[in-house]
Amino acid sequence: MKFNTQLIHGGNGEDPTTGAVSTPIYRSSTFHQRTLGGQPKWEYARTGNPTRSALESLMADLEHGVAGFAFASGSAAIHTVFSLFSSGDHFVVGSDVYGGTFRLINKVLKRFGLEFTVVDMQDLEAVENAIQENTVAVYFETPTNPLLQIADIQAIAEIASRHGIKTIVDNTFATPYNQQPLTLGADIVVHSATKYLGGHSDVVAGLAVTNDNEIAEQLGFLQNSIGGVLGPDDSWLVQRGIKTLGARMRIHQENADAVIETLLNDEHIGKIYYPGLDDFPGHDVAAKQMRNFGAMISFELKDGLDAKKFVESLQIIDLAESLGGIESLIEVPAVMTHGAIPREIRIENGIKDELIRLSVGIEDAEDLIADLKQALAQLD
Ligand SMILES: *Cc1c(COP(=O)(O)O)cnc(C)c1O
Repeated sequence: MKFNTQLIHGGNGEDPTTGAVSTPIYRSSTFHQRTLGGQPKWEYARTGNPTRSALESLMADLEHGVAGFAFASGSAAIHTVFSLFSSGDHFVVGSDVYGGTFRLINKVLKRFGLEFTVVDMQDLEAVENAIQENTVAVYFETPTNPLLQIADIQAIAEIASRHGIKTIVDNTFATPYNQQPLTLGADIVVHSATKYLGGHSDVVAGLAVTNDNEIAEQLGFLQNSIGGVLGPDDSWLVQRGIKTLGARMRIHQENADAVIETLLNDEHIGKIYYPGLDDFPGHDVAAKQMRNFGAMISFELKDGLDAKKFVESLQIIDLAESLGGIESLIEVPAVMTHGAIPREIRIENGIKDELIRLSVGIEDAEDLIADLKQALAQLD
């Protein structure tokens, strides 16, 4: 089955008990056990729920894994993945990660004795040099949030495997439509399904997928033990979102291409961060490992122009956190999504106060461009 067919027909397929083509929402916390001490498929809904399971097996197919796990948020998925490891274990982590992941690492996981070295994942030598005796995994995003930096998944997974450690990739920005890290050597993929997978800004959810049976067993154990599971209603919403992922991504891309063209030709715009640009560092790696470059664009206005005035002047593009929804969203990471990162670390990592991040939606491109142009004109 090819990818777009898989989006619709992958996973468990139709509901096995009724034949319903849209998996029913099984809103039951427990299931009747016909014999005492038998091994029923369903027993208690934290352990397993048919609606969640349909989403999980669909996601396993899309990422070419052996098992998927759905969580109440991307953050819960990431936390559960880190729970595979123990106090004293060391990780090499990408320097540009989602603000909430930075917070989870520094304010929570470190208290439990996990150790981290932060590295620019574009620098393969630095990645290898950061691996120490007790290193158990590398963890990174590509493209990163918000600088759209590109890490070479295959090259990093090769280094990791040479050192006998795991590779974990946050694939939220690319989605399996544009990039499938497990096929490039990664061991675990995590997602904030709140973004492109859900796709409609109406659900908070997370997913983890692995292609390793042993990790799958441990993740299932941890999902049940820690309990941050996705409920059946939200599982259904994410699954419905995924069915149109391909259709949405094609329009996201078309619009992003049009927006990039506009930004490139506007005199108010300074630096643009977008892996699709020929001269962007990482462009070649992105072209190699991604189907297309995606619809996340970051940019800076020319020095002295008022970013606050610009984002507040937009009328169609919403000033809001989050990304990957059908509606175009714009934000200033320093103040919003990455506010949890102390300023000096943020600046050191290249996130300037004035950086603007745009998630290009699937509206008519003409309207988005007109909106950007009218807001930019107000800066004159
Ligand atoms: C949003 C996001 C997360 C966190 O996901 P939640 O669903 O908000 O908990 C993790 N990684 C990336 C790249 C994100 O954009």
